[in-house]
Amino acid sequence: MTDITDIIDKLFYGNSVTDDELAVIISCDKYDSVLFEKADAVRQRVYGKEVYIRGLIEISSYCKNNCYYCGIRAGNKDAERYRLTPDEILSCCRKGHELGFRTFVLQGGEDDAFNDEIICSIVRRIKSEFSECAVTLSLGEKSYESFAAYRKAGADRYLLRHETACEEHYRKLHPADMDLKNRKKCLFDLKSLGFQTGAGFMVGSPFQTVEDFVSDIRFLEELKPEMIGIGPFIHHCGTPFADWPDGSVALTLRLLAILRLMFPEVLLPATTALGTLLPDGRERGFKAGANVVMPNLSPVSVRKKYSLYENKICTGEEAAECLNCLKNRIRSAGFEMSFSRGDYKNIQQRCT
Ligand code: SAH
Repeated sequence: MTDITDIIDKLFYGNSVTDDELAVIISCDKYDSVLFEKADAVRQRVYGKEVYIRGLIEISSYCKNNCYYCGIRAGNKDAERYRLTPDEILSCCRKGHELGFRTFVLQGGEDDAFNDEIICSIVRRIKSEFSECAVTLSLGEKSYESFAAYRKAGADRYLLRHETACEEHYRKLHPADMDLKNRKKCLFDLKSLGFQTGAGFMVGSPFQTVEDFVSDIRFLEELKPEMIGIGPFIHHCGTPFADWPDGSVALTLRLLAILRLMFPEVLLPATTALGTLLPDGRERGFKAGANVVMPNLSPVSVRKKYSLYENKICTGEEAAECLNCLKNRIRSAGFEMSFSRGDYKNIQQRCT
C-alpha cells in the first residue's frame, strides 16, 4: 500500500507522481487537513495572502450548444433568454470599476448574435475606457482567426474549461456535434496567441471516474494553463441530468489542493458553484489553495436568467453588497481581498 503522506510530499516538492499515486490521493479523504495545509503553504509562497477578484458579466443566456449538464443549453425551452447590449456591458464595467474591480470577465452562451466584430468592439471600448484593467473572455469555442482578432482588440485572458479530457466521458456529457478535439485545439490556440488561458472541469459530473480526473490533470500538465477553474457539478431541472446527484464539496476541495500543489503559480478560483453547495464553500476553497473569486457584476434583472445550475447564489444582491460580503468572507478565512489586476505570476520566469 502506497504511503499517502509520501505522495503528498512528492507533490509538495514538485516531484512527479504516477497515475496510480494520483488516483490514490484523489480517492482518499483521510489526509485532507495535511493536503490543505501544504497547498496553503505553496499558495502563500507564490501569492501571499491575496485573493484576486474578477467582475463577472454574464452577457448572454442564448446558446447554440446543447451540453447535457447546462441549464442554458439550446434544448431547454424553459430557459429565459436575454442578451446585454454593448452599452449595458460598458455600464456594468463602469460600476465595477468604481467598486475597485480591475478585471472584467465577459461570459456567455455561444451566441452568434455576438459576432467577432461586436465582441472586438466591446473589448476595444472597455480597454480604451479602462486601460489599466484586464479583459477576460469566456464565450466558448471559436476559430483561431476569431481568437486572434479578440487578442488584437486587447483581450488579455480567455476561460474555456475543457470539461473532461477523456473522449468517452466527453461523449456522455455532450451531443455528437460537439468534439473534445476541437475544444482542446482551442485551448492550445489560445495559449499560442498569448492569452492567459484557463481550462478546467466539473467535479462529480455524471459518469465521471477517478481515472477521468487523472486524465484531466495530465491534460493540464500538457497545456500549462495560467488559470484552472473547477467546481462541483450541480443538477438543473431543464437538462437530461436533472436527477443526477450534485458533485461533492469535499472532493472539489481535495482537487483544489492537489492542483495548487501541482501547479503552484496557477490562478485558481473558489467558484460560485462551490459557494452554492455549501454556505462557506468558497472560504474553504481559499484554505485549500484557491486564490481567485468572481463576484457577479451582471445587472440584477438578468442574474436569475443565467441559470447554469439550480439555486445559484448571489442572484439577488447588488454588486456592492456582494463585494462587501465577499470581503468579509475572505477576511474570515484569513486572507485579504486584492484589488490589483491579479495577473499570473511565473516565479521561475521572474528569477531568470
Ligand atoms: N459557453 C462558455 C461558458 C460556459 S458556462 C463555454 O463554453 O466555455 C461556464 C462553465 O460552467 C462551464 O464551462 C461548465 O464547466 C460550468 N457549468 C455548466 N453547467 C453546470 C452545472 N450544471 N453545474 C456546475 N457547473 C456547470
